[in-house]
Amino acid sequence: MLGGTFDPPHWGHLWLAELARLRLRLDKVLFLPVGDPVHKQGRVITAVPHRLHMVSLAIQDNPYFALDTTDCTRPAPHTTVTLLPLLQKAQPDAAFWLLLGGDSLRDLPSWTKPERLITQCRLAVLPRPGAVIDWEGLETAVPGIETAVDLLDGPPLSLSATAIRAWIKEGYTATYLLPTAVATYIQQNALYTN
Ligand code: ATP
Repeated sequence: MLGGTFDPPHWGHLWLAELARLRLRLDKVLFLPVGDPVHKQGRVITAVPHRLHMVSLAIQDNPYFALDTTDCTRPAPHTTVTLLPLLQKAQPDAAFWLLLGGDSLRDLPSWTKPERLITQCRLAVLPRPGAVIDWEGLETAVPGIETAVDLLDGPPLSLSATAIRAWIKEGYTATYLLPTAVATYIQQNALYTN
């Protein structure tokens, strides 16, 4: 499970998904765009249909990647701790990992019921440049977190959607920062220009 705002989806998301798939031998990676991100209140988020479309374009070449709209179609608040039981109910025989970048792991104490979350599934984390993890503080805030995490070993990418939005706002295209089909869609729909 890879939840996110995907505003827009980029190589950082796709690399996290592929690295986790390879390292953990996952059958499937579910991309779960969140309709109303709890952690990004006060920021203008691109409309759900655009973000869904961009994710489907981003993952179209990988047969192991799938779009799951559960977290856009259910009523808010869209918290991960309430999302997981829905997915697990739909696939009761599957073992689940929640894929996260290092910044999300660092911020986990501010999520809703993180102590419950780590009993629902394991976490697979790709360290993210600039996101320093204070393991001692994290363990104090969320007891048991250290043993719930599988750290993904692979090259880190410092790309972020924030940096891409800023780049497009300067008047450039997002070519080479995300899949070509997504860059074309952004251009055609004049997303992130103003
Ligand atoms: P923004 O810059 O708008 O906050 P973002 O690039 O962090 O967005 P999100 O959609 O918020 O993208 O991220 C979804 C998940 O993917 C989060 O767990 C995030 O940590 C992870 N992620 C995104 N980019 C990377 C990256 N370059 N390396 C590792 N993890 C990443």
